[in-house]
Amino acid sequence: TIYLDHHATTPVDPRVLDAMLPFFTEKFGNPGSVHTFGEEAREAVDAARQTIAAAIGADAPEIVFTSGATESNNLAIRGVTERRRRRGNHLVSVRTEHPAVLDPLERLAEQDFKVTLLEVEPHDSPRAGWLDPAHVADAVRDETCLVSVMLANNEIGVVQPLAEIAAECKERGVLLHCDATQAVGKLPVNVEQFDVDLMSFTAHKLYGPKGVGALYVRGRNPVVRLAPQITGGGHEQARRSGTLNVPGIVGLATAIQLATDDLTAEVAFLTQLRDHLAQQIFSAVPDARLVGPALDARLSYASPLRLPNNLNVMFPGTDGEALMLAMPELAVSSGAACSSMRDEPSHVLMALGLSADEARSCLRFGVGRFNTLEQIDRAAEMVAAAVAKVRQMGE
Ligand code: PLP
Repeated sequence: TIYLDHHATTPVDPRVLDAMLPFFTEKFGNPGSVHTFGEEAREAVDAARQTIAAAIGADAPEIVFTSGATESNNLAIRGVTERRRRRGNHLVSVRTEHPAVLDPLERLAEQDFKVTLLEVEPHDSPRAGWLDPAHVADAVRDETCLVSVMLANNEIGVVQPLAEIAAECKERGVLLHCDATQAVGKLPVNVEQFDVDLMSFTAHKLYGPKGVGALYVRGRNPVVRLAPQITGGGHEQARRSGTLNVPGIVGLATAIQLATDDLTAEVAFLTQLRDHLAQQIFSAVPDARLVGPALDARLSYASPLRLPNNLNVMFPGTDGEALMLAMPELAVSSGAACSSMRDEPSHVLMALGLSADEARSCLRFGVGRFNTLEQIDRAAEMVAAAVAKVRQMGE
């Protein structure tokens, strides 16, 4: 089976696994312990924190380890709103965010918070899915306590103009959180350059293990204070209690280091695979339509509008689930992995203005580090055959 679902998760890179293994066995200490076992683990966590901070332009104390991006998003959103109530009860985000942002916001809306979800550019635009920073400027009010905008979308790969959005927030004195889960390892991600106050990411999207992630929390200009959501032993400067996942943290650091060191080459490789896949699919299925921003759309040379590994395609007159059943040797997604559990058309595709049937006829492809051009050729053949088969069944 060919795996083209790297937005859902990635395999652990063997180099990451090698770095992690000793911390399950001989170096098993609890970093909170005073003895040499604890010290060894503590040193590994300190080094990992340094590596991760350096990779994103942060200082080590600004990194809080969590169980993944879902927890990081929850900690950012709930943590800030619980502390900043005095400023007001208004939150701003975007319709195309991941459920790990939208659900916490929805729960706050059930209490006494007001949530504004911004619209994005529609399907027929070359910037489909893109958030105009002017919308952020218009939405923010005196009572706004947090803006949350993802850097790159997990379904259509659109990359948001975070620095411009941050400038609007800064001017109005509002904190900005960013879910950078899909972007880290695929774009240069620097918290100073983007000027974000909080940023979530996770290891398993960048060839690290599942169940470990981090939240960047700005430590100066301004100092961002969070109400902890998991309390106990006071770990992570009392921002997130619980014995640290040492092997996972070492894995996250190794994964981020590898991704940062090889970023230019990796982006070129992923772009080549993705563009080849698109070309093969569009020539084999002439009425297939690209969903999301144009593959080569850019705001400037340095700012591509789409993740290098993302492709989302509509196959009119088919059903994504049926297509997937017709090609069991190819692992892709119809809509987001999370929303396919609910059997609802993807909220991201609906936000572009697609109908429910159109949204259901889309497939999401995510190429990765260990894919080959031969696999891409075979995958495109499988897709073309599946489309023909599903259409024939529908006649
Ligand atoms: N945010 C985005 C944009 C994602 O794509 C994902 C992955 O599903 C998450 C958050 C959740 O990450 P995790 O699985 O680490 O909780």
